[in-house]
Amino acid sequence: MREVRLIVCDLDGTILGPVSEYSLYGHFGELINDFRRRHNAVWVVCTGRSMKSFRKVFSPFKALDIRPDFIIVEHAHIYSATGFGYMAHWLWNIRIRFAAWRSRRVVKKALTELGQKVRPRFHKVRSVSVGSESMRVRCQDGATCVEVAEFMRKEISRHRNLNVFEQLLEVEVRSVPFTKGIAIGEVARHLEVGSEAIMTIGDGHNDISMLNPGIACMSGCPMNAEPEVMEAVRVMAGHIASKPVLAGTVEVLEAYRDGEVSSELPEGWEHPALTTAYSDRKLRKRSRGVKMPWRSIAIFVAAVYVSLMALSKFGILPGAVGGIITKPLNVIIELIWPSASEPPLPST
Ligand SMILES: [Mg+2]
Repeated sequence: MREVRLIVCDLDGTILGPVSEYSLYGHFGELINDFRRRHNAVWVVCTGRSMKSFRKVFSPFKALDIRPDFIIVEHAHIYSATGFGYMAHWLWNIRIRFAAWRSRRVVKKALTELGQKVRPRFHKVRSVSVGSESMRVRCQDGATCVEVAEFMRKEISRHRNLNVFEQLLEVEVRSVPFTKGIAIGEVARHLEVGSEAIMTIGDGHNDISMLNPGIACMSGCPMNAEPEVMEAVRVMAGHIASKPVLAGTVEVLEAYRDGEVSSELPEGWEHPALTTAYSDRKLRKRSRGVKMPWRSIAIFVAAVYVSLMALSKFGILPGAVGGIITKPLNVIIELIWPSASEPPLPST
């Protein structure tokens, strides 16, 4: 059995799954405690959730005495378990926040430049849309798609948090949080644990930075992991589980405990991009992503109306305009409180 001093698990899709898996948590807790006893191992949960959200979803596990020794929230901010709860590593958290802010600026600039290069170079490109964290290129045919993806990979090679994803006739360059790996490196440095004794388990693109031989020499993923995550685990000769979510994570821990690590793809596994269900899911996600910002619009309209009311009140606006502005408010007051507009009774 290889020495495991640090176990790092992602949360959603890795140890947090459907309610039907609840009965597995007891066994999962025993496995973690087994590693703690045998190797004095430390358990870290690394998630993109905020601390508040983490506490909310993780509170039921306190009853099962499942408590991580460290928590990394928002992909980067470190908290360690103490007798009084989880304490923030303030200095580190401020430093990493600044680094992430600087990275966002660099990404935005890089995507804008990339968009300007793609448009004139490829004539069979239908559209190019550039956002602050992603860029999407729609192509007329598959061959152009491959050429565009290859070009983009070369162009972004110096940006560690930009990844290229191909989907049907579309190529997407997306900013993927890279700070999980850095934060785990910081915890390992704090505990004086080398990468050869670190195991990382994750399922999403934001976990790729921690499924890296420079961070951890042991890795694993459940069956529901993204294809790029499975590829990262396969390259590291880690364990690709044949079960999803928590059952898969339990399988990874058992595989390392029993020395039965396997990087084979699960039987019957199919690349999700080739299945209709995956495409539908992506489209649904996109349609959710283009909602109108009704709340912002309502706040803006209310702010403009209040400003005009104030100008009218102080006589800055002409009387006729002021009357038009105050009319809707008077109508509302009349509807809510009819007596407000009635003339006072004559005194006797
Ligand atoms: Mg996940």
